[in-house]
Amino acid sequence: MKRIIASFLTLALATISCQFFFPTQTPTTPPLTETSATTQWDDRSIFQKGLVTSAQSILNGLKGASVYHIDFNIESDMRHITGNEEVHYTNTETKDLTDVRFRLFPNILGGEMKISNLKVDGIDVDVKYDLRNSLMIVPFEKAFSPGQGAVISMDFAVTVPDNVDLNYGVEAYYDNVLALAHAYPMIAVYNEEGWNAEIPPQYGDVTFADMSFFIVKVTAPRRVTLVSSGRETDRSEDGTSQTVTYEAGPARDFYLAASDQYKVFTKQLGEITLRFYTRSDLQEGARSGLEDAARAIEDYSARYAPYPYTELDFVSTPTLALGIEYPGMIAITEWIIEPGQGYLEATVAHEVGHQWFYNLVGNDQLDDPWLDESLTQFVTLQYFTDEYGVNGAMGFRQDLQGRWDNINDARIPVGQPVASYSEDEYSGIIYGRGGLFFDALREKMGQVAFDAFMKDYAASLSWDISTPEKLKAIAEKHCNCDLTDLFQEWIY
Ligand SMILES: [Zn+2]
Repeated sequence: MKRIIASFLTLALATISCQFFFPTQTPTTPPLTETSATTQWDDRSIFQKGLVTSAQSILNGLKGASVYHIDFNIESDMRHITGNEEVHYTNTETKDLTDVRFRLFPNILGGEMKISNLKVDGIDVDVKYDLRNSLMIVPFEKAFSPGQGAVISMDFAVTVPDNVDLNYGVEAYYDNVLALAHAYPMIAVYNEEGWNAEIPPQYGDVTFADMSFFIVKVTAPRRVTLVSSGRETDRSEDGTSQTVTYEAGPARDFYLAASDQYKVFTKQLGEITLRFYTRSDLQEGARSGLEDAARAIEDYSARYAPYPYTELDFVSTPTLALGIEYPGMIAITEWIIEPGQGYLEATVAHEVGHQWFYNLVGNDQLDDPWLDESLTQFVTLQYFTDEYGVNGAMGFRQDLQGRWDNINDARIPVGQPVASYSEDEYSGIIYGRGGLFFDALREKMGQVAFDAFMKDYAASLSWDISTPEKLKAIAEKHCNCDLTDLFQEWIY
């Protein structure tokens, strides 16, 4: 997730800141929800309504993507959550795997997550923990061959921090808002590096995840409004509690926010319903944010690929970032929704851009942050240019340059992992110089070839994971040129 770090007007570091067949469920685990009890693991029909028509064909693809059935019970104090997860995991690699690894992010976000009753296909398994208990290694009794799958089930208990001290407060109950990011046991990505897992720096994004499917049942106090990734499919109320079921997918994460302060403002854009949840006195900002979001979606859908979901929800939270992206959801820090703050449109345009570059086209956000953050900064510059012309985009261009100027235009390569930068360098290089790199790439390639490259990049890597090598190869195909020198100057 991300954040943009400085902004437009001042660079005073306001922090703006990812077909198989298992017909039988684990017999010892009770069904999670009515939906999941009656849903076959390979039945993707429930996800169809959450996708716009042009994106629905993806439901025939993504063979072996993980399917999560999660149950969250949020207690009345909004800080203690118990739950159950059953996930159908398939080895989609080309080699045998001896274990599967889960990230338990609450253990490094200032809260706590404890796992119990873990089973693989109904059989108890002893797990190992690492990385300050943020990594759980689940061994297989016998190595899993490619295509082999299992249902892994567990109970969990989460305590959410009551402050926003760590990682911009992505996960917190603070100021009457529950921001519940990465709060379920989340399968890590396996790639040529093996299982990807590390402790993320405080100033970068936390997750790196494959496309998955989610059916999530949330039980929470009735007084709060619940907002989540995906689409609501069922709701019931009982005394002081409510139970709501959601489907989401394909998606790289599942995010939930809840508050008793939320009012909702809505805008329809073709097949897409946009909603902004915030305090009622922030109506003006919410409506303005929805207009900005609609313009950004139209611009990016025309330039890159159609926005894939039928919903996009904004929620105001007390995050210290200006905004943070999640699949089909965006968290916006509350103060910039107030009139006259000047940060809202750039933040909305940036975070909406991440729906393409982070979610639709994924990347390793810890190793290659420029593929999501720098590209999204450029996308935001392109949004301002498309909407207001070159002169109208000058403010945002100066923002990119200003961030780089803040570190004296240091020629530090753009293509490094988050952990290799100091916090100031991360802002200056990834959010400043990196955005300017794409502008230099456009100049080198020419506008027509660059536009064709961006469309091809988004289309050919939709629902997949990009790498610097893939990006460079697609660009070179479109300019019919060798871009090594340019990458040498900026990236390597
Ligand atoms: Zn970002």
